[in-house]
Amino acid sequence: SDRNPNQPEFLQAVHEVAEAIIPFMEENPKYRNHKLLERMVEPERVVMFRVTWVDDKGEIQVNRGYRVQMNSAIGPYKGGLRFHPSVNLSILKFLAFEQVFKNSLTTLPLGGGKGGSDFDPKGKSDNEVMRFCQSFMTELYRHIGNDKDVPAGDIGVGGREIGYLFGQYKRIQNEFTGILTGKGQSYGGSLIRPEATGYGNVYFTKSMLETQGDSLKSKTILISGSGNVAQFAAEKAIELGAIILTMSDSSGYIFDKDGIDREKLNFIMELKNVKRGRIKEYLDTYPSARYEEGKTPWHEKGDIAMPCATQNELLKEDAQALVDNGCILVGEGANMPCTPEAIEVFHNNKVLFSPGKASNAGGVATSGLEMSQNSMRYNWTAAEVDEKLKQIMNDIHEACVIYGRDENGYVDYVKGANIAGFVKVADAMIAQGAI
Ligand code: NDP
Repeated sequence: SDRNPNQPEFLQAVHEVAEAIIPFMEENPKYRNHKLLERMVEPERVVMFRVTWVDDKGEIQVNRGYRVQMNSAIGPYKGGLRFHPSVNLSILKFLAFEQVFKNSLTTLPLGGGKGGSDFDPKGKSDNEVMRFCQSFMTELYRHIGNDKDVPAGDIGVGGREIGYLFGQYKRIQNEFTGILTGKGQSYGGSLIRPEATGYGNVYFTKSMLETQGDSLKSKTILISGSGNVAQFAAEKAIELGAIILTMSDSSGYIFDKDGIDREKLNFIMELKNVKRGRIKEYLDTYPSARYEEGKTPWHEKGDIAMPCATQNELLKEDAQALVDNGCILVGEGANMPCTPEAIEVFHNNKVLFSPGKASNAGGVATSGLEMSQNSMRYNWTAAEVDEKLKQIMNDIHEACVIYGRDENGYVDYVKGANIAGFVKVADAMIAQGAI
């Protein structure tokens, strides 16, 4: 921690991985004496740059841009771009570090990275977002490439932003190439990519329940967030017979005792993606629901919790409330939404708990499939991509079980995911020597 002062999120992510990896390295001599963890916590490269743009009033605005290129042992750097006022080096290093293990788990040849800016797209016009994206890419373009580093979306970066970023890259390089994923259908995007993180999380949850001979049918689910991940987790869970009770945004959450069905979810998608409104506006159309300002949904009663908003949004007391209310499973859709103390509560109470690096890996996996399709100049059908996604989530679940199951049959998915993700990267790093 002396080397990384003021980086609490990064240290939190490293600590969680180290807890699983250090005992594993001690038991397996081949992983000793290579300084693997010391190397893995040091990014291969970090770029930080000024992003200057002109707002609609003609005033100059200045933001900070970043790309953290964490580890390229098993493939080109890959990981999303986040545009949110809270973005700083600690958050991006934690996300890039997590991404290394997650990408390894997908079974695809993808290294780990993450980037973004403290720019806040909220309340900005489309033209302002475009000018920001163009300025951001005017520096980022020299650091990325389809065999080098392939960014994607994350919080605040969806289809609109990826489009503007891609357009600017193409203009500068005079090259049409798959340097970003999450692209639109008309210019190289993969079917099922927008759905993939949320769908993948639900496929993973389904696998976890199946280990107990259980299913999603009639299960009540508490979801946080109402962005990309939350929306498609809700969509797939509804399709599989579950009942969604809550969704949220950074202002509060809605609780609908009758369940957020397909039609109500369509309303939320339109509200969030097109009108860019707030979740509380749900009540204008569905007045029987209730809205809780400034709160997270974890004190409601539900069988399953899916935190799909942001890091550290589910605390120890929230975990205890979930357990007290009979929650049996927590599937992280966001990255590191549960604090270490919350995870401890879940483990102590034998709640099935999946860390984001396993259960939200469907997004980056499908980004990997988008890269393959771009290289082949060919598109798979939605059914083909969805089938591959299911297979990958299934494989990730299996890998977690292999490394995470204890003598009583309880699976510690955190341990399982960390070790399974570590092994492939470690083997590649050892083979490539002291670099
Ligand atoms: P979006 O920007 O589409 O949605 C984010 C949602 O979370 C919004 O409802 C937002 O509310 C809420 N949120 C964001 N920041 C905060 C905050 N500080 N406090 C409370 N609520 C907040 O992002 P995504 O759905 O893409 O990402 C959600 C999570 O999933 C992130 O942790 C991301 O890293 C992770 N993830 C995303 C992947 C993807 O493919 N998109 C892949 C793997 C992980 P509001 O509208 O008020 O800001």
